[in-house]
Amino acid sequence: MRYISTRGQSPAVGFTDAVLGGLAPDGGLYVPQDWPTFTKAEIAAFAGKPYAEVAAAVFGKFAGDEIAPADMARMCAEAYASFHHKAVVPMVQVGPQTFIAELFHGPSLAFKDVAMQILAKLYDHLLGRQNRKQTILCATSGDTGGAAVEAFRGASNVRVVVMFPEGRISQVQRRFMTTATETNIACLSVAGTFDDCQAILKDAFQDKSLKQAVDLTGVNSINFARIVAQSVYYFTTAVALGAPDRAVNFVVPSGNFGDAFAGYVAMRMGLPIQQIVVATNSNDILARALTTGRYAGGAVHATLSPAMDIQSASNFERLYFEAGGRDAADTGQAFETFKTAGAIDIPAAALAVMQRTFTGVAVGEDETVATIVSTLDETGELIDPHTAVAMAGLKHVALDGPTVVLSTAHAAKFPEDVEKATGVEPALPRGVASLADRPERFQRIAGDATAIKDYVRGFAEAASVDA
Ligand SMILES: *Cc1c(COP(=O)(O)O)cnc(C)c1O
Repeated sequence: MRYISTRGQSPAVGFTDAVLGGLAPDGGLYVPQDWPTFTKAEIAAFAGKPYAEVAAAVFGKFAGDEIAPADMARMCAEAYASFHHKAVVPMVQVGPQTFIAELFHGPSLAFKDVAMQILAKLYDHLLGRQNRKQTILCATSGDTGGAAVEAFRGASNVRVVVMFPEGRISQVQRRFMTTATETNIACLSVAGTFDDCQAILKDAFQDKSLKQAVDLTGVNSINFARIVAQSVYYFTTAVALGAPDRAVNFVVPSGNFGDAFAGYVAMRMGLPIQQIVVATNSNDILARALTTGRYAGGAVHATLSPAMDIQSASNFERLYFEAGGRDAADTGQAFETFKTAGAIDIPAAALAVMQRTFTGVAVGEDETVATIVSTLDETGELIDPHTAVAMAGLKHVALDGPTVVLSTAHAAKFPEDVEKATGVEPALPRGVASLADRPERFQRIAGDATAIKDYVRGFAEAASVDA
């Protein structure tokens, strides 16, 4: 299996290089040269299988002969053993045709764990084979960082530097990162927004000398392995609801479009998906783009669902590439234009392709709060604000057939807002230690690419001396 860049200016690479490289050297995102597929019988056979086995089957299609099936199976088993629920991604019924898929039973209580736990195993395996040490630079809008720290802390061949936007993530989110004591982890509190952090990340990846000096890599949702990991629960949940004989809808709370694109991947692999509703908060670039065809950034507002406070959705480039018939020259030009001008128009034909599968919906703050309350009243389920955006989004569209709402964070990750809305304090699940009294370790830094790149260089050097 070979991977090509959406911008067409980098050579095709294998699975190992696509995973360890993160972003393609030309600034594009990797996608498989050809989409692998499952037969209907293969999909039907996922019914009743342990989650880790389905994950190994899906990853097997993308890793090709670069990872032995037995190694893949072992890594998936280990990764998903870290979850606090035996089903890994269980479902709860909340309406006649509506089901919530709980993606938050991993160590950091957010759906990012689903991808990050397996990604850490893959890195360990692939780097160990090459006798190589890498530096992960990661920008987080709240949950990726915690999931990355949980997955990679103590790893001997990977150092992690996490950037988060100062004051724009919850205390619990911050503490999942800053209470790690392992020396291979560094946390930077950046004066700026998540989009600023993401721009600095892109800048760092295009700096060849830095990239070489610290062997830089990324685990943001631009990493194709994360998308693969996220496509797995589309299969397990859809099959539980009658796929492949019945088509299923999904409602996805979205920011960077990674999770939603994973649904597209599952569909390309043969899973019958009718609609994917992309629900955003008031940072509605995706909802606007999918409705009007104009993909235009804007000011980032702080909302109750901070992991989606994004006005530049990295993974949208992958959908643009696919929907436009894989025209790399056009994709490269469009996203260069977006970077400089802040807006692009999606060609009409590509927009029509997108709209066949995706519907964009924006949900305001009042509606989010009201949905947390009504969901509790009507179903007894206490949901977090990100999940509430998706539950609210569901009310804006008419869907036919079974519908899975992706629940991306545990309510206890946003205790203040959930309690304020409902009067009920969400409890941390049993076995998740309170982080409140552990000392925090992080550094405040300007939202400046040069300062941050210098920090990364210094940290990588110091961490090598330690090791
Ligand atoms: C990251 C995140 C999202 C958004 O996912 P994308 O793949 O970036 O669209 C939604 N909810 C939570 C809780 C998250 O952490």
